[in-house]
Parts: sequence; structure tokens; C-alpha cells
Amino acid sequence: DVLVNQIAAGEVIERPASVVKELVENALDAGATRIDIDIEEGGARLIRIRDDGGGIPPNELPLALSRHATSKIANLDDLEAVATLGFRGEALPSIASVSRFALTSRPSDAEHAVRLEVDGGRIGAPTPAAHPAGTSVEVRDLFFNVPARRRFLRAERTEFGHIDDWLRMLSLARPECQIKLQHNGKQVRLYRPGLDDAGRMRRLLDALGDGFASQCLAIDQEAAGLRLFGWVGLPTASRSQADQQYFFVNGRAVRDRVVSHAVKQAYADVLFHGRHPAFVLFLEIDPRRVDVNVHPAKHEVRFRDQRLVHDFLYRTLHQVLAETRA
Ligand code: ADP
Ligand code: MG
Repeated sequence: DVLVNQIAAGEVIERPASVVKELVENALDAGATRIDIDIEEGGARLIRIRDDGGGIPPNELPLALSRHATSKIANLDDLEAVATLGFRGEALPSIASVSRFALTSRPSDAEHAVRLEVDGGRIGAPTPAAHPAGTSVEVRDLFFNVPARRRFLRAERTEFGHIDDWLRMLSLARPECQIKLQHNGKQVRLYRPGLDDAGRMRRLLDALGDGFASQCLAIDQEAAGLRLFGWVGLPTASRSQADQQYFFVNGRAVRDRVVSHAVKQAYADVLFHGRHPAFVLFLEIDPRRVDVNVHPAKHEVRFRDQRLVHDFLYRTLHQVLAETRA
């Protein structure tokens, strides 16, 4: 039902960056090791995402475009563990209902790819296509049939900035996957993959540049079943680090008051008052000790034991920062 999908799109798809987010998360769910993203005109004209993941079997292509069809919930435990990034099964039909959309996919054991075009929600017939193993999704003329939405799109630079910002965050969370970003035919970012120390450092460099990567301290501490690892900017670093604050809980980007407070307090108590700390930190915690569904956008979490998390963060950062002053 095109109208139902358009209404759902109103909730899920706010701007080109929301499309990129949904499609990239699908690619990651499919086990992609390489994701190529092509954007034209800030995403208003074209968003094309190609991955080398598992692909979609031809007979399941139409299903992928129907509402609440998801291959990702096997049982209730899955839902509770929020094992994969997406689980609502409505991103593709929503996006397809407000754009000129095409899905081309080939599982590695299939002889050729199949392509399905959808124009403003109307699904065409599947046709054979040439495509390497994996999936491409093309989204053209986003909101062409929802003028009120289309009018709300900001300047090309602004919309592209949202895409770029979100991908930078994601690139830090998922260092195992290579991600390439092009805008109007020019390569803007290349996030090289790597999971060892050198690879992660290279990723940090690709994401945040030399200003952060050359002036930070590595952290890796465990206590009380919690692990904190990543990097904190040296308090002596330039002010341009100010907006570089990334915190991930079990791989999910999170903004949280308990976290910000602990970090700020640690910096303040080591006498770096007034500095804006820069950090890329990953907290690993038993999923049962944290609620991730506090907010639908899932940037918020609620720790079951806020005090414990706060004190662990505070003590770890305080110790590392104090050592740099000694
Ligand atoms: P959800 O991700 O919540 O399951 P989506 O609407 O985003 O719902 O996707 C629907 C289904 O289409 C997915 O469950 C998955 O089976 C399939 N799919 C979507 N994108 C890809 C992709 N890039 N590679 C493989 N399968 C995909
Ligand atoms: Mg999805």
C-alpha cells in the first residue's frame, strides 16, 4: 500500500542522510566488507549504495520491498538482544514509496543479478541484470512525489554534511568494513578497513584527521564486567578537537548525560578546566545491563546501574589523564 508506506516514510525518512543510514545498516547486516556510496546534489538527486554482502535471492526480492518483511527476527530473543542494526522491516518500502528506486542484487551463488525498479511505490517487474555478488540500491529524486518534504530539503552542502557526519561516526563504529564516499563524482572519503591496532589507528586518521590522531592517548581498561577502550584527545591539543566526541555502547553511537558528566568531571579534576574534551570511546557492557530502546532513534540508552558506569568511566579517564600530567 503506497500511502501507508509514504506515511511510514514520514517517520523513518527525514532527509537524504536517513536514507543513507538505513541502506548502509542493511549492507552491514548483510555482512558487507566494502560499501561504496555515491551521492549527487546532497542526495536529493541520487543516493547509490553498493555492497559486497550476501545479496538477496531473486525470489525474495519482492518480499524485501513489502512492509514488515524482515529477514532479521528469528525469535523473541533476537528482538531483545537487538542483535542486528535494523529490525523493523519497513525501511526499503518506505524509501521506495517516496523516490524513484531500484534494487539490484546477486547472492554469490546466483548466476546473474536481478533488478527491481519501483517508481513512487509502484513495483515493476524483476529483470535480469549484471552485477557483482552483493547489492546495489539506487534512490533518485527523493520526495519527488511529496512536495512538502522536498521543499524542506536544505542546501546541497548541508544535506551532504549530514551524510558525511553520520558516516564518520559509523566508520569509527565499524572499522572492519571499507567505506568509500563520493559526492558529485568526486571521492570525498575513503575509510580504510582494519581491526588490528594499526588498522584502527588508520581508521581514526581517516575519520578525524591528523589533528586528533597525532594528539591522543589510547585507552583500554576492564573492570566489573565493563570494558572501555578507544582514544582521548590530549588536553593540550588544538581547540578544533572540540566537536570530536564519539561514544559507543556495544557498538552503538550514544549521547548520554551520565557519560558526558563522567568525562567532563575527569577532565576537570585533572585540572583541565574549560577544555572541551575530544574522545572516541567504546564501552562494552552486558546488553542486559542497558536499555537501548529509550528513544526510537536509539541515540539514548539507560544504564541499569548508572553509578557503576559513571564511576568506571570517571576513574579510567582520570587515571589516564593524570598520568599525562605526571
Ligand atoms: P530490515 O532491515 O528492518 O529487515 P529493510 O526494509 O531495511 O528491513 O530491509 C528488508 C529486507 O531486505 C532485509 O531484512 C533484508 O533481508 C533485505 N535487504 C535489504 N538490504 C539488503 C542488502 N544490502 N543486502 C542483503 N539483503 C538486504
Ligand atoms: Mg533495514
